[in-house]
Amino acid sequence: MSLNRDLVHREHLFIAGRWVAPAGSGSIDVEDPATEQVFGRTPAGDEDDVEAAVAAATAAFADWSQTSVADRRGYLEAIAAALAARREEIAELVTAEMGTPLALSRVVHADLPVAVLHGFAAALREIAFTETIANSTVVREAAGVVAAITPWNYPLHQAVGKVGAALAAGCTVVLKPSEVTPLSAYLLAEAAITAQLPPGVLNLVPGTGSVVGQALAAHPSVDVVSFTGSTRAGRAVMRTAADTVKRVALELGGKSANVVLPDADLERASRAGAEHVLENSGQTCTAWTRLVVPADRQDEAVDVVRERFAVVVVGDPRDPATTLGPVATAAQRAVVQRYVARGVAQGARVAAGDPAARPGTGHFVNPVAFRDVRPEMDIAQDEIFGPVLAILPYRTEDEALHIANDSVYGLSGAVWSADRERALRFARRMRTGMVSVNGGAFNTAAPFGGFKQSGVGRELGRYGIEDFLEVKSLQL
Ligand code: NDP
Repeated sequence: MSLNRDLVHREHLFIAGRWVAPAGSGSIDVEDPATEQVFGRTPAGDEDDVEAAVAAATAAFADWSQTSVADRRGYLEAIAAALAARREEIAELVTAEMGTPLALSRVVHADLPVAVLHGFAAALREIAFTETIANSTVVREAAGVVAAITPWNYPLHQAVGKVGAALAAGCTVVLKPSEVTPLSAYLLAEAAITAQLPPGVLNLVPGTGSVVGQALAAHPSVDVVSFTGSTRAGRAVMRTAADTVKRVALELGGKSANVVLPDADLERASRAGAEHVLENSGQTCTAWTRLVVPADRQDEAVDVVRERFAVVVVGDPRDPATTLGPVATAAQRAVVQRYVARGVAQGARVAAGDPAARPGTGHFVNPVAFRDVRPEMDIAQDEIFGPVLAILPYRTEDEALHIANDSVYGLSGAVWSADRERALRFARRMRTGMVSVNGGAFNTAAPFGGFKQSGVGRELGRYGIEDFLEVKSLQL
């Protein structure tokens, strides 16, 4: 299949259930990071478009917030079905927008959002919308109009994670996708049309963060801003939203530690760590970018990582042999390159991969693993968002814990031990929102979010929906 022109050349915004022309004349060119060719375009919305979209969402809220849970479950399932029917188009589109190898795109960019929508529909059964506390009836109701601001690394999944939860709660939404990957959001709007979602319940305004994102965060009729992206932009959103005392949910960066305790299966843990940092070219906020290993077994861990990196095939994401596509943008490539150079300059040793820049067209980078990384080095502290692994040796379990927690972030992580109880004890002491114990798999029904500067609030499943509910107590 090759992408139909209508899928990649978009002229309209989606507001109040209709495709409407933007107020201004700005546009966004969408580049294929593998070829550096512009292949698509969308309008770049402005403040007037935000005004129209928020007005539509506000008007739709009165009825949508009163729909039954069963009706909302039906809409979520219908949107999921409409997306599932377009699996191949979604995978191809996201591969074109951000360069993920096609086979992985099918799973993480097409199937995952569908699973997340089913998850919200199921989770709606678990929420107690009414409870009794002494002489009070406590009800949970939709928080209002939601602004969803999403990044480029999992474009449809991030949009669905916010939009699906907000709709489940009875909120109405204005979605602003990343200007790097605005096209896949149109498929979500089309799925909403197929599902016959009432007009104004979901609105789509692509544009830049500084214009559309800020206008949404500032708008007095927006009740909740749900943002995923960099900590820098998250802070800006929070500051702007403070003026109107909005509820703000932030899903920000990470620098997650994968801790291998001395009695663990080091080979399995190190291989899983290497895989984790390669997936989606390392552009995953939960990536285990720090491998924390016993000092006397660092050489073994390096061998495992080197073996895994040796079979990486960097190249055209549409070639089935490729396992590592480009990073999403030239800017992202420059960031990765800069951190690799800084790792070398600060004295970390290259353990695997090739730190050299890749010549030629496309935003390709080589995977690189560093050994003997010290906690104070930039490559141990900063979110790089590329296939760069920092291997940090430790001497005692307390030191391993200290290293794991020595971060402004606290999003995800992992711990491995032959003794499950020991691993669980360690996991409980990690200051992070999610921990995989001995390779425990990602769970779309479990709360997703971070401690510290990794964010505020939780996404996915029941917890994700609850972030969009207000609590009201009726004294009887
Ligand atoms: P940003 O945080 O800039 O972008 C995320 C979203 O926020 C985009 O829709 C963006 O708009 C919007 N945005 C940007 N600035 C503002 C603002 N001031 N007010 C409101 N909205 C805003 O991420 P980048 O794309 O610049 O990526 C930079 C770094 O962020 C990466 O290297 C990575 O470290 C991190 N990141 C983390 C992600 C995560 O999942 N935690 C996801 C993506 C990035 P637009 O870009 O369209 O202008």
